[in-house]
Amino acid sequence: MDYKEYITVVENFPKEGIRFKDITTLMENGPVYRQAILDMTDFARNKQIDVVVGPEARGFIVGCPIAVELGLGFVPVRKAGKLPREVLEVDYGLEYGKDSLNIHKGSIQPGQRVLITDDLLATGGTIEATIRMIEQQGGVVAGIAFMIELGYLDGRSRLEEYDVFTLMTY
Ligand code: AMP
Repeated sequence: MDYKEYITVVENFPKEGIRFKDITTLMENGPVYRQAILDMTDFARNKQIDVVVGPEARGFIVGCPIAVELGLGFVPVRKAGKLPREVLEVDYGLEYGKDSLNIHKGSIQPGQRVLITDDLLATGGTIEATIRMIEQQGGVVAGIAFMIELGYLDGRSRLEEYDVFTLMTY
């Protein structure tokens, strides 16, 4: 399937010079959304995954249906201040300044094999921070699946040690 046909590229959003890849037009199409999720799920099958982890908000759109399809749990990664119980916190670099991500303490058991999911790999900063939170808890990152990869930002070079899958590359 040529998934790019269903992605809308929006020029200069959220700021000048950014070509925003809008996945909502793909999600609006039930059969295409379903097929995209199943293709990503196929990457994860036979990897003995124990749990799926995804960062808010679009990591949930991708990760939750994959977790359900595999019959596994889903652990959310959120911006600071959103999770109600005790958290692990990791700072990560943004284009300007920094932000932090949280995960519930004890959400990953030592030795558990984790699939990380997100809509899009840009610089890789978000996923690198997510990996740190999983590995700090003793989890093993067994695969990382994205819908979209922005090849020109080379986020993949930060994820060299990991098994990375993407449905489409720009
Ligand atoms: P990064 O940490 O740089 O890999 O990017 C983190 C998140 O920013 C991705 O998961 C996307 O949700 C979002 N993002 C970055 N660049 C774009 C883009 N060009 N179009 C849509 N979303 C983007």
